Amino acid sequence: MASHYTIILIFSVSIAATASTLLSDGLKNDLFPEILRDVAVARLYELGKVSDADGYLERTFLSPASIRAGNLIRTWMEDAGLTTWMDGLGNVHGRIQPPNASKKALLLGSHLDTVVDAGMFDGALGIISAISALKVLNVTGRSRNLKHPVEVIAFCDEEGVRFQSTFLGSAAIAGVLPVSTLQIPDKSGLTVQNVLRENLIDTTEENLSQLKYDADSVLGYVEVHIEQGPVLESVGLPLAVVKGIAGQTRIKLTVRGSQGHAGTVPMSMRQDPMVAAAELIVSLESLCKRPQDYISSNGPDGQCNAFSIKSLSGSLVCTVGEISTWPSASNVIPGQVTFTIDIRTIDDIGREAIIYELSNQMDTICDRRSVSCIMERKHDANAVSCDAGLNSQLKSAAYAAIKRMTGEDIGDVPVLMSGAGHDAMAMSHLTKVGSLIRLLS
Ligand SMILES: [Zn+2]
Repeated sequence: MASHYTIILIFSVSIAATASTLLSDGLKNDLFPEILRDVAVARLYELGKVSDADGYLERTFLSPASIRAGNLIRTWMEDAGLTTWMDGLGNVHGRIQPPNASKKALLLGSHLDTVVDAGMFDGALGIISAISALKVLNVTGRSRNLKHPVEVIAFCDEEGVRFQSTFLGSAAIAGVLPVSTLQIPDKSGLTVQNVLRENLIDTTEENLSQLKYDADSVLGYVEVHIEQGPVLESVGLPLAVVKGIAGQTRIKLTVRGSQGHAGTVPMSMRQDPMVAAAELIVSLESLCKRPQDYISSNGPDGQCNAFSIKSLSGSLVCTVGEISTWPSASNVIPGQVTFTIDIRTIDDIGREAIIYELSNQMDTICDRRSVSCIMERKHDANAVSCDAGLNSQLKSAAYAAIKRMTGEDIGDVPVLMSGAGHDAMAMSHLTKVGSLIRLLS
């Protein structure tokens, strides 16, 4: 609990300090522990209880709990002195519009939806830290002197649980949400548009594009987020600035063999897709653990250079998370095995080289085992680089905040890659992005 207080405070002070670099006089040394620590932490716990499920946290796009969470966030925004509204997709906005500010706004935010059985800090931390920081700017009167408007956005859907389509809220604001998304159905058959109408939001294919922000009206987007991984804890660092967000490819791989009786088909006569899949999965692990052993000059069109190999080795992660067999019986050699592959790295060219090598290995293994293999690419997203200018502001703000709070000089704030996708990925289509991450344990 004590560490939660410290972390929220570091985040909020960092945001406030970053926002206040837009001020001429900067933020003074007061840490505002009541607003930035006590109230912020209490709100994190309060929001963590707003759930559609009993006993665990679940808030999907525009579910009853999501609506309650959005309303709660809106009251906190109003308490912080922000002008609020909900847009045509259910994103909740709160804005400070200083009297003499330029047109370009600094956007802060994160998502209010969750995965099923989520941790309460995911998304909520970014939203609550930003609101708390802006409250400090308002109660101290500093917001009047801001050179730019500052806006917090609580995005309605980042996780994509309900409609299997991620970043609904931020993609709409960035102008990269296809209009066809409105017709995607959830498991009960309700489309995105149906669900919006249920909540009295009339968004159509014609007016969806009005949600897009004008790039000229935005200064940049900053998101703070929990790390969702073990790296910071393992090296004993309190927080990091995000260098970039990994690009990602999702693949479905189908292996077809010859279905047969477990007792009557001799081992020498089998075309077993299960063992072929097992060999493919182990090969994938070797490839992703040591890409430099496999990829030198044999990338697609020889594109893979020394830089790719270095950045690949440092950032590549590959996962098989889902596997299904047919007919899935203990006494039957399967006829078909299907599994998913999730490949992520900061290096987009390197990712293509890995997929090219994987495809070659697949052909070799499947030929040798006399099974047929089909690789389908289901999703591709390129890596996002965070803006060097925003990151250096975040770095110095975080450094100063930690020093003021703890008296400790941690040296340089580390810079890490994020393997998890965040709204910053979608927002990067609109504006430059910056991000801070912190492990909460
Ligand atoms: Zn998240």
